[in-house]
Amino acid sequence: MLVVVLVVVLVDVVLVVVVAGAMVATVVVFVDEVASAEEQALTAKDIVTRRRRARRDRTEFMSGATLGGNTSRFDVVAFDADDTLWHSEDGFHAAENTFCELVRPFVTEGVDLRAVLTATERVNLPTYGYGVKAFGLSMLEAAISVSEGRVSSDVLEKLLSVIRELLLAPVRLLPGVAEVIVDLAKDHRVAIITKGDLVHQTRKVSTSGIDHLFDHVEIVLEKDVPTYERVLREIDVEPHRFCMVGNSVKSDALPVLELGGHAVHVPYRVLWELERAEHPVNHPRFGQVEAITDVPSWVRGR
Ligand SMILES: [Mg+2]
Repeated sequence: MLVVVLVVVLVDVVLVVVVAGAMVATVVVFVDEVASAEEQALTAKDIVTRRRRARRDRTEFMSGATLGGNTSRFDVVAFDADDTLWHSEDGFHAAENTFCELVRPFVTEGVDLRAVLTATERVNLPTYGYGVKAFGLSMLEAAISVSEGRVSSDVLEKLLSVIRELLLAPVRLLPGVAEVIVDLAKDHRVAIITKGDLVHQTRKVSTSGIDHLFDHVEIVLEKDVPTYERVLREIDVEPHRFCMVGNSVKSDALPVLELGGHAVHVPYRVLWELERAEHPVNHPRFGQVEAITDVPSWVRGR
């Protein structure tokens, strides 16, 4: 009799466990269905925003957990793109040489064609902005004006090919860039802040192979104080917790220093004439390094 009672009780317990398990499974399936329906309702932008928020939470957790409380003084480290992350100005420089060779036969001897081109770019900057297309328009205009209309259509066609090649050229990363971004992303938000043509810059960022490493990508018209002020507000960082890295003191350092941020200058072998500026060597929030691979130790040594 005792054995029968024990068997009945055991069967009851098994039944209760099975029913409870089924209920839990149902709830889990239901929650999954709700989550997936919710996910489906999200736009791509929402998903990116959520991913960034999760990444920021993780970063804050990690930075708070750093051994000995040795946390970085920066929340965001931002990088210029052209001639900081990848080669750019050498392509323009080669195009300028081609311009001089092609247009030379149509102009008076002794004319400084490079200076004419730079002067045309300078005048057109407020109208055309930055980038290859703006450069191309100035190149065509300079060819026509300096030759007083004598330049041949064949030369203009060749100049157009040069512009097209520049627009479609694959991105060539500078040495060590990916490793530096991965390293800094461990305990900072990392960003790209670049100016230039929206279509071309977007193509370069998306084909660079490193775009997924960045929390923010900002393509702006100009790199001046009001623009940095707006971008810093949008990415939610205080100027004193922000560090900008770039090859142009004029665009990547001076406006950021004026706002109260930090800036690191990483030189590139060629600098566009219109980016020349005095280096604020004695500024307490300004740094100069030899290569981008020196940036993480500069950032963590502040
Ligand atoms: Mg640059």
